[in-house]
Amino acid sequence: MNGLLVRDIHKTFGSTTALDRVSFDLEEGQILSVLGPSGCGKSTLLHIIAGLVPPDRGTITWQGQDLASIPAHKRNFGLMFQEFALFPHMDVSENVAFGLRMQSMQPAQIEQRTREVLELVGLSAFGSRNVDTLSGGERQRVALARSLAPQPGLLMLDEPFGALDRTLRERLMLQLPEILHSMNQTAIYVTHDQEEAFAVAARVVIMHAGRIAQVGTPEEIYCAPASLFVARFLGLSNLLPVSKPADLKRGEVQTPIGRFSVGREVGEGATLLLRPDQVRLGGPGPTVLEGRVIQRSFRGGTQRLKVDVEGTELIFDFMTGTALPDPGDHVNLSFDPQQALQVLA
Ligand code: ATP
Repeated sequence: MNGLLVRDIHKTFGSTTALDRVSFDLEEGQILSVLGPSGCGKSTLLHIIAGLVPPDRGTITWQGQDLASIPAHKRNFGLMFQEFALFPHMDVSENVAFGLRMQSMQPAQIEQRTREVLELVGLSAFGSRNVDTLSGGERQRVALARSLAPQPGLLMLDEPFGALDRTLRERLMLQLPEILHSMNQTAIYVTHDQEEAFAVAARVVIMHAGRIAQVGTPEEIYCAPASLFVARFLGLSNLLPVSKPADLKRGEVQTPIGRFSVGREVGEGATLLLRPDQVRLGGPGPTVLEGRVIQRSFRGGTQRLKVDVEGTELIFDFMTGTALPDPGDHVNLSFDPQQALQVLA
C-alpha cells in the first residue's frame, strides 16, 4: 500500500503508557479520524507520525519508506492544531505564503498557490486583511489554508476547531472533507468529539488508554460498538449487566429487566446493549417490555422517552412526529432482539 502504515507503535513516558501496540493503515487521498477521550494518546500518536517524538517500538512507513531515520522537517507532513498561531504582523496572504517562501518557491508560484488555497477555504476576498481583524472561524480557515499551501504529503489536524462555537464548528467540519478531497489531501483528523470524527472521515480509529479500541466506518462503529468502552464513549444508553442464574436456557441472558435470547453463550460480566433507537411503541412485537414513562424530551430530529422498566431507567429515541405517551403513563415497548440487542464484552 502506498499511504501510511503505522505498525505496533509503543510509547511510554515514565510510568505512563501513552501508546500500546497501535497499528492502522491510511490510504493516500483518504481522511482518517482518530477519536478518543482526553489522555488516550491521540496527540502522542500524531507527534510520533510527524517525527517530533520517537516511538519506543514500532514502525511508521509512508509511501513504502520506513520513516525511522527521516527527521520531521524532511517528512513533508503538516500539522495543524487548535492554538495554531497566525503571524499577527502579517496579512492573510502573507500568513499563507510563509511556508511557501520557506520552500524557496518562485514569487509568481507563491502568489498563485496562495490564491488557490484562499479560494478553497472561501477567503478569496480576505488576502490583504490583517489577521487581527478576523473572526475566530476566519482565523482557523486561514490556519487551514496555511497548512494546505505547501501541499504536505500528510496533513494532521489536532482538534483544529476545538475553540470555536458549535455552529461554526459544524459548518467547518462539513466544509473540511470537501476541501481535503478536492485536493486529494491525505489527512488524519484528531478529536474527542464523536460527531466531528464521524462527519469528517469515512474511517475512524477509536482509542482508549493508548490502545486502539475499534477501527471502522462511522456506521460500523455506531451500529456495532466493539466493546462496552466504545458504547459508553458513543453515549449509548441501556447498558444492562448480564448474570447467569442456574436455570438459564442456552443462548439466553439474564438482565435486570428480564431474560432475552441472544442466540449464543455469554459469559458472566458481559453487558447487554438495548439500542435506544431500535424500539417501537406498543406491542405485541417479537419481544415486549412494560414500563412507566418518567420523562419525555424533545431533541430536534428525535424525541426521547425515559422509561422505568422493572426499576431500571431506560432511554428510547423516536422520530419527531411520533405520538408519545406522557410522564406517568404505562407503555408497552416491542423490539426485534436481532436488531436491538447486542452483547458487549
Ligand atoms: P488530549 O485530548 O487531552 O490532548 P491526548 O489523547 O492527545 O489527550 P496525549 O497528549 O497523547 O493524549 O497523552 C497521552 C498520555 O501521555 C497522557 O497520560 C499524558 O499525560 C502522557 N504524556 C504525553 N506527553 C507526555 C510527556 N511529554 N511527558 C510525560 N507524559 C506525557
